[in-house]
Amino acid sequence: MAQNSARQAGRHFLQIPGPTPVPDRILRALDRPVIDHRGPEFAKVTKRALEGIKTIFKTTNPVIIFTATGTGAWEAALTNTLSPGDRVLMVETGQFGTLWKKMAERMGLKPEFITTDWRHGADPKAIEAKLREDKNKEIKAVCVLHNETSTGALTPIAEIRKAIDAAGHPALFLVDTISSLASADYRHDEWGVDVSVGGAQKGLMLPPGMSFNAISDKALKASQTSKLPKSFFAWDDMLNMNKVGFFPYTPATLMIHGLVEGIEMLHEEGLDNVFARHKRLAEATRIAVKTWGLENLNKNAAQVSPTITAILLPEGHDADKFRALALETFNISYGASFGPYAGKYFRIGHLGDINDGTLLGALSITEMALSLAGVPHKKGGVQAAMDFITAAHADPKKAAAE
Ligand code: PLP
Repeated sequence: MAQNSARQAGRHFLQIPGPTPVPDRILRALDRPVIDHRGPEFAKVTKRALEGIKTIFKTTNPVIIFTATGTGAWEAALTNTLSPGDRVLMVETGQFGTLWKKMAERMGLKPEFITTDWRHGADPKAIEAKLREDKNKEIKAVCVLHNETSTGALTPIAEIRKAIDAAGHPALFLVDTISSLASADYRHDEWGVDVSVGGAQKGLMLPPGMSFNAISDKALKASQTSKLPKSFFAWDDMLNMNKVGFFPYTPATLMIHGLVEGIEMLHEEGLDNVFARHKRLAEATRIAVKTWGLENLNKNAAQVSPTITAILLPEGHDADKFRALALETFNISYGASFGPYAGKYFRIGHLGDINDGTLLGALSITEMALSLAGVPHKKGGVQAAMDFITAAHADPKKAAAE
């Protein structure tokens, strides 16, 4: 940016891993007069949203829409299924795994925390071992993040389901899919998840302020006996009112219009194409990082995130200063760093309404910013990413198989 300029030309590069840029079509859908939230027109829109969101979670069961951010839907998942003092098994995949555990503690639950080095996702074997140790079946829920947004690790949810079954354990299975839903394949029913927690501001491309609980029959049954206090987040009132297209309170009505539009856009592109696009952009980013000679925070190549890449800077280089310089100079926002690695890495979000050109713009800026900040690296990361993307389009079948 020209120094001392009051304006930065062009669109801001919002490369944080959510909220993601809201596409014009969704902005247009949001931009309309407010209507009666207890009238017939709104009931029709709500019913479309409630049916549509099921196709995104891949469930035939109800999905509840909350006027709250993802943190609210975390709370709803716990408070509707559990009782004070219940033991829950959680995994320290990173910042968000840690925050969910903190919430469980505040709510009077007893989390058992499987610790990690923040460089891996959840390990199905470690979960199975913990559940096998629990001879009296006192653990009431296993809570895992599908995608740990703070580190870029994608946990295989189907394998965690298998681990719970292999241990013969009856615990509920609660999964946070906030930064993977509508970006990576997610199958609430097929994977035997009891509560899936989603958010609007990532793959669904909406502004922040809406979140979801997809619920299984088992979770619904648990909600009838769970003793944690619930009011705003109570599922029963919601399910009753949703049947006729309404909410127990005034929902964020315009966001429901936006949600219907977002779901339509995802199906127009085709969910499998959406997932393939995210995979391609993530792989292109990792190729650039490797070419630069920098290190990916996530160490497990089998658990790489399709939506975010966390990049470690070499010793002695402050990632927060790097982010500030890039913002000031190139009008780009990267994700911050957390926990034991605070100040040591930055995150590139590559999710939502993003295409090859947007990503390559962001990677070009990153390569320039690395030079400007004096971070030692090799050139050619952007070229390598371009070569990969070109090859992926030349042979989509090969790219999909990789
Ligand atoms: N879980 C994950 C994986 C997230 O990425 C986030 C936010 O980025 C949250 C939970 C919290 O959601 P919110 O900030 O919408 O409350």
